Amino acid sequence: MPFADLELTDQRVKAVLCKIPRDQFVPEEYRSYAYENIPLPIGYGQTISQPYIVGLMTELLSLKPTDRVLEIGTGSGYQTAVLAELAAQVYTIETIEPLAKSAQEILTRLGYDNISFRVADGYFGWEEASPFDAILIAAAAEEVPPPLKKQLANGGRMVLPIGAPGKTQTLWRIIKQNDRFIEENKGLVRFVPFTRRG
Ligand code: SAH
Repeated sequence: MPFADLELTDQRVKAVLCKIPRDQFVPEEYRSYAYENIPLPIGYGQTISQPYIVGLMTELLSLKPTDRVLEIGTGSGYQTAVLAELAAQVYTIETIEPLAKSAQEILTRLGYDNISFRVADGYFGWEEASPFDAILIAAAAEEVPPPLKKQLANGGRMVLPIGAPGKTQTLWRIIKQNDRFIEENKGLVRFVPFTRRG
């Protein structure tokens, strides 16, 4: 099974990674590498994340089947599929329109019907659909966008890389408890930059 040997603790997450056809989300010329545990180019200077990091970020969200999730940085749509398998509804935002379109096409073809798509700057989140039980950001910002903190439900979890672009960043899990935010450092990662548009 592809990805069965990734060092993840949540077996549900691992089962989902084994089930989703990652080759469908990868441009044709890289398809032979789709089941390697590496990031790959998806065009527009962006990458499909490394499967281990997708799994790690997902397990840190501790998703329940009733959860509503916000994802910033749809990219290829691969992480979106993982979230859609484990949560009730996924709201995903991407700034680069052709990537959003292609992700939507692939996810529709694979039969996902619990994903809402938007082309916009994810900095502002998706106010009308908030609050979210979980928020995942797949691009590195220098600080947590304040609107996203506001849109997190009480007890909600946010997982995101924070740090300067072009270097390694720190992966953080932030848990909202009443008016407090508990921040946990989950180690070093490397992501494409969070870019402001519009
Ligand atoms: N999980 C995705 C990761 C894609 S890379 C995958 O595995 O395919 C991160 C994505 O975030 C890129 O597609 C980039 O265009 C997008 N992005 C960067 N800044 C953004 C912003 N402010 N709002 C929405 N998306 C953004």
